[in-house]
Amino acid sequence: MTARILCILIFLGSFQLNAAKIPLTGDIAEPLNITSQTEFFEDVKGTSEVNSLSHENFKPLKGDFMLVPFSDNALWLKVSLKNEAKSGQEWILQYSNELSEDIQLYRYDSTKSAYILADTWDINTSKKRNFKGQEPYFKFTPARQETIYLRLKNQRGIRSSLYIFPASIYPDVLLDYQGERLFLFGLLAFRLLLVLTLGIFVIKDKGFRAYSLFILIKTFGYWGLINVMNPDFVTSVEIGNKVNFLFYASSPFGVILFSLMVLPLEKLPGWIKTGFYILLALCTLSHVMVWVSYNWHYVSMGLWVVLMTSVFSIGSFVYAACRKLPIQNFYSIPFMLGIGGYVLMNFQVLTGIKIPLALLLAFILLVAELLVFIFFLGRIFSQTQMKGIIADQQLENERIQSEKLMELDNLKTSFFTNISHELKTPLTLISGPLAELRKRYPEEKLLDMMQPNVTRLRDLVSQILDIQKLDSGKEPPFIVKADLARQIRLQVLSFESLATAKNMKLSFGQNKEEFEAYFDDDKLNKIISNLLSNAIKYSPEVSEVLVNVHYDIRPKKVSISVADSGFGIPEKDILHIFDKFYQVNSQKHQGSGVGLSLVKELVDLLQGKIEVFSNTGVGTTFLVELPADEKTWQNFVDEESKPSADFIIPEKTSKNAQSHSGEDQRHDEKKLILIVEDNPDMQEYLFEILHEEYDLIRAFDGKEGILKAGMEIPDLIITDLMMPVMDGLEFSKNIRENLASSHVPIIMLTAKSDKTAKLQSLEIGIDHYLTKPFDPDELIGVINSCLSNRAILREAFSQNVAEPALKIEKETNPWEKAFIAELQDFLEIHYQDSSLSVPAIATKMNMSESQLRRKLKSISSYSPNEYIRKFRLQKALFLLQTTETSVSEIAFKVGFENLSYFSKIFQSEFNKAPSEVPRS
Ligand code: ADP
Repeated sequence: MTARILCILIFLGSFQLNAAKIPLTGDIAEPLNITSQTEFFEDVKGTSEVNSLSHENFKPLKGDFMLVPFSDNALWLKVSLKNEAKSGQEWILQYSNELSEDIQLYRYDSTKSAYILADTWDINTSKKRNFKGQEPYFKFTPARQETIYLRLKNQRGIRSSLYIFPASIYPDVLLDYQGERLFLFGLLAFRLLLVLTLGIFVIKDKGFRAYSLFILIKTFGYWGLINVMNPDFVTSVEIGNKVNFLFYASSPFGVILFSLMVLPLEKLPGWIKTGFYILLALCTLSHVMVWVSYNWHYVSMGLWVVLMTSVFSIGSFVYAACRKLPIQNFYSIPFMLGIGGYVLMNFQVLTGIKIPLALLLAFILLVAELLVFIFFLGRIFSQTQMKGIIADQQLENERIQSEKLMELDNLKTSFFTNISHELKTPLTLISGPLAELRKRYPEEKLLDMMQPNVTRLRDLVSQILDIQKLDSGKEPPFIVKADLARQIRLQVLSFESLATAKNMKLSFGQNKEEFEAYFDDDKLNKIISNLLSNAIKYSPEVSEVLVNVHYDIRPKKVSISVADSGFGIPEKDILHIFDKFYQVNSQKHQGSGVGLSLVKELVDLLQGKIEVFSNTGVGTTFLVELPADEKTWQNFVDEESKPSADFIIPEKTSKNAQSHSGEDQRHDEKKLILIVEDNPDMQEYLFEILHEEYDLIRAFDGKEGILKAGMEIPDLIITDLMMPVMDGLEFSKNIRENLASSHVPIIMLTAKSDKTAKLQSLEIGIDHYLTKPFDPDELIGVINSCLSNRAILREAFSQNVAEPALKIEKETNPWEKAFIAELQDFLEIHYQDSSLSVPAIATKMNMSESQLRRKLKSISSYSPNEYIRKFRLQKALFLLQTTETSVSEIAFKVGFENLSYFSKIFQSEFNKAPSEVPRS
């Protein structure tokens, strides 16, 4: 407490004994500053009575103004007046600080011979106030000789002066004062409006906006300082004080915000930012505390924060400037000038150290701030204009650049399209013979290596051609109405083996098993294939790819998500992955950057949406949403291509299911293929690929396959390697060993790429070994090549059934050779027997008659009877050419009993009569 009193002594100046009485003369025409003629006494306990003040030790004030410290003490001011003016003249005693919280005026009442409370003023006194922000005043008529006392109670430290003047000049004083105030008020309000309007609508610059915000807070802060923000309806002095505090102590918020937004913090030491955060916390804390309880401790803390924030901020800007860091001077300089005034004023009241001319300096700083700001405003405008011009120029440049890029892109696409067209034919010519070579030289590894590359090239070429078609608008949607769920299931399934080959798990889920909808099957397939092959390609081994399909009914649409837990796509690349020929890491993975751009164009064409979510090292998810309702696609539905019954009716394929519709209906012109496959979805898939061109029968394991093959003797068998009950190898072995089916070409489809399985299957005479995932075209190519080989053999065999050509000997499998040899041997022995019958041959060959019929039909295209007849006729021809035996004898010898019938059929077989055959 002694320290405080000592402080006050320093604040209030030195002693001056016996202060003279202040003469009030009639010629006082200006407010008279009587601060230095006033005496004071600090009532530390706040209990002193006015009538006992004569015992107190009053000391004179010094200087034009006094600094009232932050405290809850009462401060008594004593003014001795000598009224020399005409009697009855009213005088005004003015205490010049709007933030005066509580003042009481005591005058001597001679009737009571005591001092009494004559008048009061508090922060909310409205009865005497003509306008907001008016300074406290008391009007009275002093006696000839009068000593008056003022009792001040102020928690907040203030700076003030005491004036006295005749009441008659008060209107002029008010006008002067109010004029100044209004001028300043107008200036500040105008600046506030200006910066706000400019910041919001014109200068869209971060620095300027930060400055506008600072000005907003600062202006309200100033209004808080002159008690303008304290609303009239507030009657409680405490709340009035708190409201004022709320405004005048908020400037740190503006200062901190501005500093954080404008200072190049990333280049400054970290403690600067931390310092601002600490000050922000302290400022908030002081506000909370003042609102909890209004007392001088918290109020002074709030003002210390204001002072420290201002100093810290100025220091930071100066530091940044000294380090030549880029700071926006246009805002920073007026900002620093603006808070300079605050520093001065707060420093005085907080420390009690009087700074001569502080008020004038603060005012100069304020004016300087305004002038500098106005001066810079022109620069800010021209800078903004410049920025606008540069931005426009940049925009124009970007437009030109993007046009050029587009041109280049078109050029690139058309170049690739032309090349692709050129490549297409030679590629087709390579892939056909390559398939043939792989068949001929199954152990040649180089050929195996060539195949995937040929397929890749072919895919790439067709993708580029697809993009070009889409770009040129030549590829409209080709919509069918069908079971979308089934199609997607099949499409996803065809990737299972690719995933298995990479040791990956492909999980698939749909919210419906059947969903009749409108969609473009081919394009949908391309979308799913690209997304899935990317998911597999860009994931490490032993990871999982998850395909989830969600069908919505109203309106009908499908959402497909393909999620992998692979390498992911870096954020900077995500924007570009749908660009043509864009690859993220072209060195690391094989690719061309075409797939996703095709996907995007297809999705756009199908009026859908595609989104990608990716995290490097975590995985990638592609989400495709496509409309599948009739309304969207009614103009595109292809009536003619209305899917066949098999296509529309989704038959549940299960082990016990009966034959698929369309299956087992033999069409003579179509070849019959037996599919032996345990996976129902794979069966469906194969069915889908093959049902239009071939008649199909199906079996779910090797055993059933053997039964069906024996019964039907198909033209070709497609079998899986791994199956329950009886696997593909055993099944194929059985087929080969069974005379009835030993000739049937077998294609082995399997995910297994291990060598022994392959060698084993080739040992048993498998004609082709295709690793899943197979390309449907490749499968059809292989089937056709098998069937045409068979046709060549059949043709060769039919030429001479009695003496099979060398080709047959060379190109048929051992079991087939054995069958032919056995048949030949039997006929050789029995052809002369005119009673030789088909059942006898069937019995001999251990087959049923119908098996024999089918078998002979497929190896020679003859029925058994035709076959025997041919055999006999060829024998007859041989005998005619090599012996001298008579025609009738020869006819008899080869089993014909009727000579004229023999001659007739001989003629039709060889186009000449037996007698015309040149004899040796
Ligand atoms: P590419 O033939 O190179 O695979 P795409 O157009 O299909 O061409 O893909 C473009 C790029 O996007 C690829 O180079 C690849 O880096 C990235 N990408 C596509 N899908 C995935 C995915 N599922 N995971 C990680 N990266 C992917």
